[in-house]
This record gives sequence, structure tokens and C-alpha cells, in this order.
Amino acid sequence: MLERLNDPELGRKMLKLVREKAARAVDRLGRPAVLMEVCGTHTTSIARSGLRGLLKGLAELRSGPGCPVCVTAAGDIEAMIGLARIPGVTVATFGDMLRVPGRDSSLERERAAGARIKIVYSPADAVELAKNNPAGEVVFLGVGFETTAPLVALTIKQAADAGLDNFTVYAAHKIMPPALRSLLDSGDLNVDGLILPGHVCAVTGSEPFGFIGEDYGIPAVVAGFTLVDIIDAVNALLDKILLKDFRTGNNYRWVVKPEGNGEARRMLEDCFHTGDAAWRGLGMIKGSGLMIREELAAYDARNKFGLEASVVAEPPGCRCGELLRGLIVPTDCRLFGSRCTPTSPVGPCMVSSEGACAAYYRYERGEV
Ligand code: SF4
Repeated sequence: MLERLNDPELGRKMLKLVREKAARAVDRLGRPAVLMEVCGTHTTSIARSGLRGLLKGLAELRSGPGCPVCVTAAGDIEAMIGLARIPGVTVATFGDMLRVPGRDSSLERERAAGARIKIVYSPADAVELAKNNPAGEVVFLGVGFETTAPLVALTIKQAADAGLDNFTVYAAHKIMPPALRSLLDSGDLNVDGLILPGHVCAVTGSEPFGFIGEDYGIPAVVAGFTLVDIIDAVNALLDKILLKDFRTGNNYRWVVKPEGNGEARRMLEDCFHTGDAAWRGLGMIKGSGLMIREELAAYDARNKFGLEASVVAEPPGCRCGELLRGLIVPTDCRLFGSRCTPTSPVGPCMVSSEGACAAYYRYERGEV
């Protein structure tokens, strides 16, 4: 597996150090330390590299609510499918959303049945679509965390400046700190450390995550995205566990400042306010969603089309909810690899390349 490291020699040395430290943590805790990542890119990196297997018996790497497609509530998926069924509406979306199964359909199925659904690569593409189709309505599906939301905010501003009246956003963006607080408050999250998402922290800064150590006595470290970055973060977390140092660390300092990116934060504040949002698996979390401000209501698809996200049950047998709460690993789901595969997904965690089930299926079957 070591040949998969992006810098094999450095990775080998770091891994040796981490394994020794993890063994000391096992002595201290009486079991392998459980470290949870809350970022889909980290999930994919960890699975692709085989790092989980390399630390087997010494530290357990577990996924949390870090995949934006996966945490989008089933009720939002139904609302998006409902949008695609409105005559004259074109839904513009990132490709990952297409195959997320809804109650009895998906955007992919709606498209096959004739709905106008376009895959775009940025929100700006959706604005272009609206400009080129003045007789129709274009709705962009805004899914993601603090990382992608500033770009959507900028797009809404550009649409407003251009006076576009046929472009709206279905805003289902989420912010990470309230979700982590909610998970920690639930009491069933048994982790010894958190690997924090570098992209999110590049916008928010590391400061909004300081509460993890201060209020819950759990160390957390901001990590970059190469495998060496992740090993480095695991190393720092193990240090913190051994030293009982609960201050949130930043091992991605060349990108993440304590106060974050002021301009991106301003863009978010100009366009969105926080509100309660439903997360798949985590339920309704206070202040965890980004809602379009009243003065930009003309660009809010919920407002324009009178949409209400309903409460929808998870697909029978699917354990994405428990997975996103860090309570199980994909192979604990009896549908994994049998009824549920990337070509025939039952739940969203098998759809997105950042979903834990898809990552396990692709890279780790039989290894862990
Ligand atoms: Fe859901 Fe499929 Fe993952 Fe099971 S394997 S939790 S059904 S996505």
C-alpha cells in the first residue's frame, strides 16, 4: 500500500512515527484511538491510500458528515425532484446529485422521463443557462458546505446585478460547526479526535472549531488533502490525545488562517443568513443552514415556487444516517456490496465519490 503514498519516502517515515504513537495511545486508552474525518475529500483520500488498513489495530479512522451530497436531507431531494417536474423549469446541478435516490424517483430518472436537467460545473454555468433561455426558469441546486457557498453567493449577486428574473437557487447549503456540536451533544459520538476539513476552514478559519476542545474535551486538527497532510494530522491528533491537549490545531496553516477568509465570509453574509436545516441522519440542526436573505428572495427557488421540504423516511435497510453520525462503517450495512453498489445505489453514501460507502466499495473491499 505504501506505493500509493504521494511522497513514498516521507510517507514511510511519517507512517512509522504515527504507528509508534498510535501504539502508545492504545496503551493509554486500552483500545485503538477513534479518529473521525468530516470531509468527503479526506474520506476519499483515506480510502484510496489504504491508510485505514495501514493503521489497523492501532487507530480507527471513521467517516462522519463530510460528504455534501450525502448529508442533503431526503426531504430536500424530494423537493429537487419536484422542481424538475414543474413545466418550463430547467434544473441545473452538479452531476453527483443526479443519482441520489428519492422516495420513488431521482433526478436521473426524471431526466430520462423528459425533465430538463442540466449538469453544470459551476453556478456561473447555471446563470449562463438562464441568460440563454429567457423564456424558461433555471434553478440551480445549491448543495455543499462553507467551501462552495461563497461561489453561489457571488452568482446570486451577479444575477441580481444583471437583473435576471428567470434564475433562482434552491439553497441547501450547510455549515459545519453546528453539525459537529449537535453530534457531540448527542452523546453517542465516541471519538477521540476529529480531523477537520481544510477547505471549509479556509473560509471559516480554525477559530469556529475551538469549541470542540473547550466544551467537549476532544482534540481536533485542521488537515490538508494530500495523504502526507492527513498522516500529519493523525500524528498531531495522537500527540494531543497522549498529552491531553484539547486545543484545536491547524496543520494546514499555509491555507487556513484562524479568522478564515474575510472576503469569502463577507460574500456569505451578504447573501445568506443562518437558519435551522435538516441533515440526513442528523435531523434538524439549529443554525446549520444557509438561507437566502429576504432582500434576495427573488433568487430563492423555495420562495418563487412555494416549496416546502417534507420529512421523508430513509430508504428501507439503508444505514446512511448511522454512517453519517460516525456510528458504523459501510460494511456494517447488510446492503453494502449486495443490493447497494455504485451502479445500483440504495442510499446517497454510495452515490457520491465522496460518500463513505462508495469510497469503501471502490478502494477498500476486502482490505479492512
Ligand atoms: Fe446506504 Fe448503501 Fe451505504 Fe447501506 S451501503 S448505508 S444502503 S448507501
